[in-house]
Amino acid sequence: MAATAPVIMRVMASSISTAKRAGGIIRDVLKKGDLGIVDKGKNDPQTEADRSAQRCIIASLAKKFPTVKIIGEEGGSDLNVCDDWLVTELDEGFLQQSCPAEWKDAKPEDFVIWVDPLDGTAEYTQGHVEHVTVLIGIAVKDAAVGGIIHQPFYKQPDGELGRTIWGLKGLGTGGFTAVPAPPGQFIITTTRSHSNALHQQALNAFASTEVLKVGGAGFKVLQLLEGKAHAYVFATPGCKKWDTCAPEAVLEAQGGTLTNINGEHYAYHADVEHVNRQGVLASLGQNHAELVEKIPAEVRAAVGAK
Ligand code: AMP
Ligand code: MG
Ligand code: MG
Repeated sequence: MAATAPVIMRVMASSISTAKRAGGIIRDVLKKGDLGIVDKGKNDPQTEADRSAQRCIIASLAKKFPTVKIIGEEGGSDLNVCDDWLVTELDEGFLQQSCPAEWKDAKPEDFVIWVDPLDGTAEYTQGHVEHVTVLIGIAVKDAAVGGIIHQPFYKQPDGELGRTIWGLKGLGTGGFTAVPAPPGQFIITTTRSHSNALHQQALNAFASTEVLKVGGAGFKVLQLLEGKAHAYVFATPGCKKWDTCAPEAVLEAQGGTLTNINGEHYAYHADVEHVNRQGVLASLGQNHAELVEKIPAEVRAAVGAK
């Protein structure tokens, strides 16, 4: 079955197994205690966990899919990794699903895999490990189509650590139970470390009942999926295609929407600019166009302009 499954199904199944292994590496680095922090820019740290998890993911996916373009947050990676980091298995549970007709004939050269090996690095270094996710996003031509969001520190009822959520447009989602957000409230989830005056102005325009400040694009989209928030607002540039590709695909496979603050989808082809200059607006169970309308003109002129 695995050898004959369409490429998208094999890429998804391999990404699920690989994200889990990367999550193990992230836990191991924290346990050892030497994070090896390097500053890539203002409020933009990188640790040994980011570097090692990326090597594991890119080496594993590149070996299995040598002609697929893979773009990782941490730049070019050494593909020579120890056997322990080279993931060869495909997630069998995922392969039991049938491939949506629209992706059956997609060829390796149609794909771009966007990898954020550790989303929420600042939170990882500060002990907010529940915000950390591993993100593997699968774009077909321009569009975010499939995604894996793995939470290395999610505590399962049996005490085991780690949870893996997937979504594929046209098929649906797996790995979690969707919960609608509470009616009669409007809860926003947003950044805890990359705000500014314009972003605050955008938040104020929503007359929300609560604002949750958490780290990472992956974790914020999980809050939408689990009914903890109604909208994710990030009215500033700064997050990148590897932050939004997997969350967008999972959220939209569940019926939600992730766009820039103008309500337009980002493109995810290999030559696209990495920065999401027009911010992020995501919602589930809402009228997304109405949320777009709420963004103040001044914010739109500064952040939403092309
Ligand atoms: P946040 O919502 O602040 O946790 O950001 C979500 C993702 O976007 C994380 O991977 C951040 O590292 C990244 N990000 C957002 N804003 C910036 C920025 N100004 N500089 C660097 N990375 C950013
Ligand atoms: Mg990130
Ligand atoms: Mg990252």
